[in-house]
Amino acid sequence: MRSTFTLGRIGGVKIGISWTVLVIAGLITLSLASGILPNAVEGRSNAEYLIGGVIGALGLLGSILAHELGHALMGRRHGLEVESITLWLFGGLAQLEGELPSARVEAKVAGIGPAISLFVGVVGVGGAFILGTSTMAGVLVGWLGLVNVVLAVFNLLPGAPLDGGRLLHAFIWGRTGDRHKATRTASTAGRVIGYGLMGIGLLELMLGGVVGGLWTATIGWVLVTAAQTEARHSATQSGLAGLTADRVMDPMGLFPDWLVVDEFVRRHVQSTRQSLFLLVGFDDRPSGYVTLKDLARANEDDRLTQPVRAYAHSLAEVPVVAPGEAAAGILTARQAISPILALVVDAGQPVGVVTRASLSAALERARLVGPRS
Ligand SMILES: [Zn+2]
Repeated sequence: MRSTFTLGRIGGVKIGISWTVLVIAGLITLSLASGILPNAVEGRSNAEYLIGGVIGALGLLGSILAHELGHALMGRRHGLEVESITLWLFGGLAQLEGELPSARVEAKVAGIGPAISLFVGVVGVGGAFILGTSTMAGVLVGWLGLVNVVLAVFNLLPGAPLDGGRLLHAFIWGRTGDRHKATRTASTAGRVIGYGLMGIGLLELMLGGVVGGLWTATIGWVLVTAAQTEARHSATQSGLAGLTADRVMDPMGLFPDWLVVDEFVRRHVQSTRQSLFLLVGFDDRPSGYVTLKDLARANEDDRLTQPVRAYAHSLAEVPVVAPGEAAAGILTARQAISPILALVVDAGQPVGVVTRASLSAALERARLVGPRS
């Protein structure tokens, strides 16, 4: 889902576009130019139909962008950080960072997107009435309007991660005050809707609609996957509630980075059970970390000549937290591909590391004994 290129910035928001969109835009252009437009308006040249098709596809991308920009700008108005908007195979994705302050704000941010799509839809359909459906322009705006109405309705299906799911979340959160319950319900609804779409897609397939069926089923599958990820994330968040960083870390001392690999293995690896070591330099400063896998890269000769630091990774990209900081925040912090999710530093001195393994151990522990003990 990585965007392959950046289109530019609108109001400071980076707009990315995935190559899959180009394929879809091409298909839409073709279907307009070879089917919809010639069927509605006869007697034009192929070039005219093609230009019409391109305009229609661009119009659709523009209206999806408007929908996502709505989310992004409304989010920013309420203090959320907007990283970027990516257009991809199934529409748009506005990446918002930060905590939603209230259910009201969540409803506003979620609702604005479908509202914009509906607005474009009404304007388009109205435009078609005025221009008439025997003109190219009339057919194009009418088509664009209808597609936007479909977009709005689809996005209002009440299951996460669709906008309708966010509205459902905001509604339950506002009514009960329980965020985690709201998330569980919205993501369950998202899975139900996803499985439903997969079922409809299969039915379409059996009835002979291969492309449409595959499309619907794939959208269903994407929804199910996204809803599951959200449910897992939420379960982790609620499990970590009340836990601080020092409760989820692996306590860890510092190991000398100047020892040759062979000596390091004999002195430290043999006597411990850990697979990751924080390193310290001669100057008493933390110099990085090394894993057993890194050390295994040393060949026979290097084991006797190379210092451990030759195989170490920098700590520069690793987020630093204080022992008393909330553990749930560690997950929301941006993560590099480093095995260390966070370095716990007390009074300038590293005291431990939070890894995926230490986090899931802490979750299991909290489940068994409660967060307090
Ligand atoms: Zn939306």
